[in-house]
Amino acid sequence: MKLGIDDLALFGGPATFTEPLYVGRPSTGDRARFFERLNRALDDMWLTNGTLVREFEDRVAEAAGVRNCVATCNATTALQLLYMAAGLSGEVIMPSMTYVATAHAARMLGLTPVFRDIDPATGCLDPRAAEAAVTSRTSGVVGVHLWGRPAPIAELEKTGARHGLRVLFDAAHALGCTYRGRRIGGFGDAEVFSFHATKVVNSFEGGAVVTDDDGLAQHLRSLRTFGSGTDGRIERAGTNAKMSEAAAAMGLTSLEAFDRVVLHNRENHALYRSELRGVAGVSVVPFDEGESSNHQYVIARIDEAGAGLHRDLLMRVLKAENVVARRYFSPACHQLEPYRSERPVELPHTERLAEQVLALPTGPAVSAADVRRICEIVRCAAASGRRVTDRARRTADPAPAPPVPVPSGLRR
Ligand SMILES: *Cc1c(COP(=O)(O)O)cnc(C)c1O
Repeated sequence: MKLGIDDLALFGGPATFTEPLYVGRPSTGDRARFFERLNRALDDMWLTNGTLVREFEDRVAEAAGVRNCVATCNATTALQLLYMAAGLSGEVIMPSMTYVATAHAARMLGLTPVFRDIDPATGCLDPRAAEAAVTSRTSGVVGVHLWGRPAPIAELEKTGARHGLRVLFDAAHALGCTYRGRRIGGFGDAEVFSFHATKVVNSFEGGAVVTDDDGLAQHLRSLRTFGSGTDGRIERAGTNAKMSEAAAAMGLTSLEAFDRVVLHNRENHALYRSELRGVAGVSVVPFDEGESSNHQYVIARIDEAGAGLHRDLLMRVLKAENVVARRYFSPACHQLEPYRSERPVELPHTERLAEQVLALPTGPAVSAADVRRICEIVRCAAASGRRVTDRARRTADPAPAPPVPVPSGLRR
């Protein structure tokens, strides 16, 4: 029990957890099923360009309610192939509150990411700011379904139609989420899922573009496979961005666990909300009850003025207790190189959110009892926020909590 700040592990109390709790532990599903699939690939000596990837593509297309799924080795590459296939050039409008891959995928192609501010109520791109950013050099808008909350899809599609722009979505967080009751995946010209180990469905590493545009899908398949056409002949420049059969074996197995994982995440999310209700300066970002969500991210906002301690100090407090929280996403893209030097821009709502955001551990490995104990730590620290801040400052050696090893799969 954490009754007072002397009980906090940061100040010498015993750590709440003996084993670290993480954000984004992979959901690996039924191990026997995974090895069955892997063994089939090994028995057939068929490790790539095979039936497992095709099956995975079918399942993902089905889950997203779209006609085409093009699986790739990761989502960053999928974004890059999509930006190319969609013919983007010049400037691409996007939010800065996203993982840097959304921007890097454009920058690596010589495109210019134009960052615009978020709607503070949702954390997603402000559609009016996006509309106002359109210039003669703009070729596309990329919306991001941050933490599974849908971007302002209708408004961005309107901006796209008005100015003749491509409208694409980074849906890395949003498999199984809905917008106005319709599944994410079929909006804009195309959407991109990630199956990185930290996402709700993983394929070790992996990604996919989903789209109802058959021509675009064919173009993407070609770019993914050395620029080859349906008959195998090379018809353009392309790369190798294929997903392997082993990755698809995991993807299929992880996908089978989806419903169970989402149910668990949903319960964790509701418990975090109720356990932290009324804690000054701490709020858990709610989900729209009218939409489906995968609840993969439990996002808290720590307002230093209300809580008496900064988000980063709370993160240290938690880490000392073996609770490894993450800053999704802080710093924001425009605060990172090369963007901050190349095209400085001020985005007040984004900067404020980046200063406050904290992702808390959830997923199948985090139980209700764990959530209760994590919230007890947060309540204890926030109840005496100013004293925690003073004491952390006074502690001569600002001894950072002993480093908790983060498995390399979770390093970001
Ligand atoms: C994880 C993530 C990506 C990148 O996905 P990878 O599969 O790791 O390349 C892109 N955008 C967002 C918003 C992400 O969270």
